[in-house]
Amino acid sequence: MINILDLNLLELKKWMKINGESEFRAKQVFDWIYKDVWDFEDMNNIPKGVKEKLQSDFHIGIPKLVEEYSSKLNDTKKYLFALEDGNLIECVIMKYKHGNSICISTQVGCRMGCKFCASTIGGMIRNLSPGEMLAQIMKSQHLIGERISNVVLMGSGEPFDNFDNVMKFLEIVTSGNGLNIGQRHITISTCGIVPKIKEFADINLQITLAISLHAATDEIRMKSMPIANKYSIAEIIDVSKYYINKTNRRLTFEYALVKDLNDSRLDAENLSNLLSGMLCHVNLIPINEIKENELKTSSKDNVAEFKKVLENNNVQVTIRREMGLDINAACGQLRRSYIKCEELK
Ligand code: SF4
Repeated sequence: MINILDLNLLELKKWMKINGESEFRAKQVFDWIYKDVWDFEDMNNIPKGVKEKLQSDFHIGIPKLVEEYSSKLNDTKKYLFALEDGNLIECVIMKYKHGNSICISTQVGCRMGCKFCASTIGGMIRNLSPGEMLAQIMKSQHLIGERISNVVLMGSGEPFDNFDNVMKFLEIVTSGNGLNIGQRHITISTCGIVPKIKEFADINLQITLAISLHAATDEIRMKSMPIANKYSIAEIIDVSKYYINKTNRRLTFEYALVKDLNDSRLDAENLSNLLSGMLCHVNLIPINEIKENELKTSSKDNVAEFKKVLENNNVQVTIRREMGLDINAACGQLRRSYIKCEELK
């Protein structure tokens, strides 16, 4: 049975036509679904015959809530959801003054192998469909009882390793017939799959692109990110410039600071040399330490010093607010700790 959330309006209209129904019914069905009515039976203006046909071909794939954690330190919530096949995914809701933001997953697990990340420890299980990405937002909005205005694709999974599904998700989530979230309120984060960054640039969306750089030399990058063996920093910088020229958008570089790995003054100077003059912004992330490895977060002084070097070289930089440290907020941590607990039972 097809998850109706995987369809765009045009596809549902086609289905209506093939099934001998008026195409305008598609818009009515979408209006219900995106108003949190997730049972065809409850769609009052849909005739019984249409409902029966919908029920025989489709289901509305909203995940089940398995666990919910609220941070005591700040306004962060984390949800662990079960998909229909029992796989678990997680997303994080962050409350800011300017609205609610959600960080969603794009795959179950991840095969990219970044050392500082818990999502990758069990490898990649499968891609999420566009509807499964959308449903994380829909279910979370329903749970918090408020609209979510910003979406970040930075949870478990490498979005560009699931390119087609992510592009369709972006189409539906930004559509006035979908969740209607503006492109400028969406950020997509990649570990640096160069050909896909180029493909994404050519689509020319007004979405913020964030590239996880995490090092200023290939040698250091290879120590924590296996993708660095495939694409060099020089190639990433080239494709970044291509992206900026094509979209006229400021690019974000994510830089997770790890004690004694990439947080020295020389690292900051090398990073400045790479990025100076580019339309970009660096997001420094003091890592969340995870049980599964020995990586330690940089000291506050080191983080401040690193920032200062970039600023002195006219590179725009901010330090990411640490979210929900008490609730395993780093990507993949909650899913892993839940699976481990279940295994121990
Ligand atoms: S940081 Fe992102 S790309 Fe790297 S392993 Fe984790 S989920 Fe995958």
